Amino acid sequence: MQQNYIGGKWVDGATASRNVNPSDLSDVIGEYAQADAAQATAAIEAARAAAPAWAHATGQARSDALDKIGTEILARSRELGELLAREEGKTLPEAQGEVNRAGQIFKFFAGEALRVAGEKLPMVRPGIEPEVTREPVGVVGIITPWNFPIAIPAWKAAPALAYGNTVVLKPADLVPASAWALTEIISRAGLPAGAFNLVMGRGSTVGQAMVNDKRVDAITFTGSVGTGSAIAQSAIARMAKIQMEMGGKNPLVVMDDADLAVAVDCAIQGAFYSTGQRCTASSRLLVHKNIHADFVAAMAERMRTLRIGHALRPETQIGPVVDQSQMDQNLRYLDIGKSEGARLVAGGERVQCDTDGYYFSPALFADCDNGMRISREEIFGPVAAVIPFGSYEEGLALANDTDFGLSAGICTTSLKHATHFKRHVQAGMVMVNCPTAGVDYHVPFGGRKGSSYGPREQGRYAAEFYTTVKTAYVNA
Ligand code: NAD
Repeated sequence: MQQNYIGGKWVDGATASRNVNPSDLSDVIGEYAQADAAQATAAIEAARAAAPAWAHATGQARSDALDKIGTEILARSRELGELLAREEGKTLPEAQGEVNRAGQIFKFFAGEALRVAGEKLPMVRPGIEPEVTREPVGVVGIITPWNFPIAIPAWKAAPALAYGNTVVLKPADLVPASAWALTEIISRAGLPAGAFNLVMGRGSTVGQAMVNDKRVDAITFTGSVGTGSAIAQSAIARMAKIQMEMGGKNPLVVMDDADLAVAVDCAIQGAFYSTGQRCTASSRLLVHKNIHADFVAAMAERMRTLRIGHALRPETQIGPVVDQSQMDQNLRYLDIGKSEGARLVAGGERVQCDTDGYYFSPALFADCDNGMRISREEIFGPVAAVIPFGSYEEGLALANDTDFGLSAGICTTSLKHATHFKRHVQAGMVMVNCPTAGVDYHVPFGGRKGSSYGPREQGRYAAEFYTTVKTAYVNA
């Protein structure tokens, strides 16, 4: 059994859970420890005890540790990518890309650990010099979803450690293997015992214990809107610092002057790759009525060529859905779309492959309107709704008519429309002639409205969440 990591030691859990490959249900990846609330508390105490030592470690010590972690992740990207593809179901190139990204994030924050800058400002009172510095927040609780099993733990843990915080990580129950492998690498990087702790287990016990414990100074969460808002309310009740990344219903606007091949490529990749299980997926395709019929026909043709199969097979483009409950959710939304009067153009069925897994063919609904549930609710599967519009202004208004605001895209050859869209779309990330999903590791990530709450993640902006500012006055 793969154990939890608490206070620098590997420890058994209260129980264990079995990690199964969604591409092949006969492939058991391993047994992983499941902590109870008492073990979560032990991890918090260990992180608390290690906080002063790590907060006062030199920038060099922090940088060296993060650099070592990043180097090892990159060197083992093939092996870690296979593990990730086996437990989550994304294809091997997607999984290896995710692992590389995790490595690059640690490398990036190895540099940032040496660039934690302050400010010295002019005096306004004679003799009294003001100075602004950044300090660690303290103990950071990290709660992550299943769809990016190594990148999301990495993009939270790397800045937490770079800025001198200690960490308790609770990964999603479905994908403990990648988080365990990351922890094993971190355990050999030279951090003080207790600076990084892993507690695998259920959200309602382990996660909730972290959210409720006053000794956890900050909670960073990525997951669904429902869980996020419940966590936010408990955490705010005790005045914890919080950062919440939640769902999306991301629009891709396709103008009648778009390059059709580029637009179809963006839509196929954005809506269906990673089996549509991305918070940045293009689940609403807003298409100008002048090219609507051509776009839908071209999408249907491309969708017929998509190869669905085992995540580790080289020919596979679309891996399985992560588990039975996500499969049930996809199928439920297929029924909802049909009953709302949307026209199913392609896909939307459970598919048999030569291994027993959760295979599902990407689905395209046409003749949708923006009021339908399939246009408003996050499905989190490879299901996209095509919604026609008559003018740029109408397309923009539809793009903004949503409870979410994570990512938004436009396909156009008009500089005027691209520029206007960049300025006026209500989203944290805007893409012009590229898919709504697929982002860089050195710039901020996050959204508006129901998608995100609190400071942005990643890039230098991560410092807003992982540090607290101190203003000092010195009468010299
Ligand atoms: P989820 O909300 O079910 O679970 C997320 C995490 O919260 C898991 O680790 C879970 O165990 C934990 N949890 C559950 N109940 C808890 C509680 N009471 N207290 C503390 N922790 C608790 O989400 P999921 O199904 O794992 O992931 C899919 C969701 O994640 C989608 O909605 C997707 O849009 C979102 N997501 C968002 C982003 C982003 O950056 N915006 C990125 C990836 C995924």
